[in-house]
Amino acid sequence: MTVLEAIQKSADFLAGRGVESPRLQAELLLAHRLGLPRLKLYLNFERALTVAETDAFREWVRRRSRREPLQHILGSTSFCGFDIAVSRRALVPRPETELLAELGWKWLARRASANAPDVTALDLGTGSGCIAIALAAKCPSAKIAATDVSPGALALARDNAAKNKVAGRIAFLQGDGFAAFRPAGQVAQAPNQKPENGDGDSEDPLLQEFDLIISNPPYIPSAEIETLQPEVRDYDPREALDGGADGLDFYRRFAAQAKPFLKPDGKLMLEFGDGQAEAVRRIFENEKWIVEAVKEDYSQRARILIATAASRSRGNTGG
Ligand code: SAM
Ligand code: GLN
Repeated sequence: MTVLEAIQKSADFLAGRGVESPRLQAELLLAHRLGLPRLKLYLNFERALTVAETDAFREWVRRRSRREPLQHILGSTSFCGFDIAVSRRALVPRPETELLAELGWKWLARRASANAPDVTALDLGTGSGCIAIALAAKCPSAKIAATDVSPGALALARDNAAKNKVAGRIAFLQGDGFAAFRPAGQVAQAPNQKPENGDGDSEDPLLQEFDLIISNPPYIPSAEIETLQPEVRDYDPREALDGGADGLDFYRRFAAQAKPFLKPDGKLMLEFGDGQAEAVRRIFENEKWIVEAVKEDYSQRARILIATAASRSRGNTGG
C-alpha cells in the first residue's frame, strides 16, 4: 500500500464512523507514524509503506474510528507552543483557552515590569497544567500556584511542568475550589493540604493572595454532556466538563469566594461557554465585581470575562 492509498482508505473509513475532517485526521496520524511533517506526505504519495508501518498506522486509525481523540493517540498536543502530554486524566487543552492564557501572561508581564518584583497567579482547575505552564514560562519572575480537585490531573500537570522546565516555579495543590488556600491575614496554610510539588512553596504568603486568578472551569450544563461529540463525552473527564444544572455553578462560586484571594487591584480572568456571557456577567455584577471586559474567541463569540473586585479596593471605609 502506498502513502496515498493509505490516506484515502483510512479517510473513507473514518468518514463512515462520523469522524470530523477525516482526510486531515488520516494525514495527521500517518505523518506522526512516519515521523514526517504532514505536508511532506504530499511529496511521498507513491512511497510504499512497510508491513510494520501499515500495521501500526492501521491500529491508530482503528482507535480514531472508535472516536478516541487524535491528541490521546498521539500522546500530546501543542498549547501556546508548549508540548503538553494528554491522557484521560485531564481535559485536552482547547485552542480557545490559548487566548485566555495569553491575556493572562500579557497582563502579568506588564504588572511585573511596572511595579511588582513578585507577581503571583493562581490557575484554578489546572487540568493538564497548560495555563499555569504558559504563565510560568512567559513570566519568569512570576510565582504560580495551580490547583485541581483531581489528583490524576495534578500528576499529569506536574509531569508537564517538568517537561517544560517550569516545575520549580509552580506550586501544585490538590483541593476543591479555593480549599488549598487561606486568604492573606488568616492561617498561613490550610490543614491537610500538602503541596503536590516538592519544589513548591505554598507556605509563602505571596501564594495566598494573587495578582491574577485565572481559570477555565467546567461549564457544560450536566444534561448536555450526553449530547457532546464522543471524543469529548467519552474521553474528557466528566469533572472537567460538568458545570452543574445550568453550567454556571463555578461562576457563582468564583463570584462569591474569589475576592479575599485577589490583591486589591488584581484581576480575575475566566473562560466560559458560548452563549453564557450575559448570565456570567450578571453573576459577577450581582456580587459587586467590576466587569472590565468580555473577550471573543477566534469566531467572534464572547468567551472570556475579565473582572476586578470593586468593593474590596475601597477597604474598610464602608464604601
Ligand atoms: N485548565 C485546563 C484547561 O484549560 O485545559 C483544564 C480545564 S477543565 C475545563 C476544568 C478543570 O477543573 C478540570 O481539570 C477539573 O478536574 C477541575 N475541577 C473540577 N471541579 C473542581 C473543583 N471543585 N475544584 C477545583 N478544580 C475542579
Ligand atoms: N471547551 C470544552 C468543550 O467545548 C468544555 C470545557 C469546559 O467545560 N471548560 O467541550
